[in-house]
Amino acid sequence: RAKKDGRGCYRFFSPEMDTDVRLQRAFELQLREALPRREFELHYQPIVDLATCRPCAVEALVRWRHPEHGLIPPDKFIPVAEEIGLIIPLGEWILATACRAAADWPSDIRLAVNLSAKQVVAGDLVEVVRRALADTGLPAGRLELEITESVLLQKDHDSLAVLHGLAALGVHVVLDDFGTGYSSLSYLQLFPFSKIKIDRTFVAELTTRADCAAIVSSVTTLARALAMGTTAEGVETWDQVALLRVAGCREAQGWLFGRPVPAAALSFEPAADCAPAAA
Ligand code: C2E
Ligand code: MG
Ligand code: MG
Ligand code: MG
Repeated sequence: RAKKDGRGCYRFFSPEMDTDVRLQRAFELQLREALPRREFELHYQPIVDLATCRPCAVEALVRWRHPEHGLIPPDKFIPVAEEIGLIIPLGEWILATACRAAADWPSDIRLAVNLSAKQVVAGDLVEVVRRALADTGLPAGRLELEITESVLLQKDHDSLAVLHGLAALGVHVVLDDFGTGYSSLSYLQLFPFSKIKIDRTFVAELTTRADCAAIVSSVTTLARALAMGTTAEGVETWDQVALLRVAGCREAQGWLFGRPVPAAALSFEPAADCAPAAA
């Protein structure tokens, strides 16, 4: 089969491409069914205070338990869920489920939930969040909503008004994956984020590249000057912890302190061999 393009040339579709399209359609159909079939689950990863290595928050991370393919990570299906509009009901389920779990945690542990840009522009996000808090009794101050810079790039939408609406509820708005997008500093001025999460690509090279250490220190200094907190993502070694403390980073998240686990396996104990913070 061939399709004529604008310049009178033909583009040929191979049988492989045809199969790809069919697989994509099947995947979308299964994804739509996954919510009523209760195939989504939330895993939870601790975020620790770097001074004490004690968990101060927990991030909810969605997974899809596919009947044949097993556990599918969010990077594989969130973009598709966004394309087909599923992210709106899925996002509501994630908020409600995570808030319900967090309502049972110690009262000094905050809950972090990721939001898709599509949820921010959907129109009723503030109401959805308000309802999730009201239904579960989780205090607004214990909820952190993580957004990426892609939210702020939605030029035709007043995303800032939505973020201010969320802040007015008393929830914290956190800038996720900082440093990977356009990272315009004007965003930090436009919206008072509670916290900046430094992307793990910078943390990964912290001990081997001086430029990564310089970027982490600068972001931490900037955040402090703007009265925002900082969380380092993807922390895997104590050497990284030492450098993050020197840089003045407040919180850390990563396999060193715990992998994402189902709610029942979550522990709020401090990391056993936490080296004391450098004086
Ligand atoms: P994110 O919000 O930046 O989440 C952090 C990701 O880093 C998670 O991947 C986590 O498992 C992984 N990670 C944590 N510690 C380490 C570490 O020490 N080393 C390494 N290599 N990785 C680490 P995950 O769970 O696969 O999630 C990927 C992304 O999918 C998230 O990035 C977030 O953008 C998105 N996502 C996850 N859950 C949700 C959700 O409920 N809603 C929406 N809209 N997006 C979600
Ligand atoms: Mg996140
Ligand atoms: Mg992140
Ligand atoms: Mg990320």
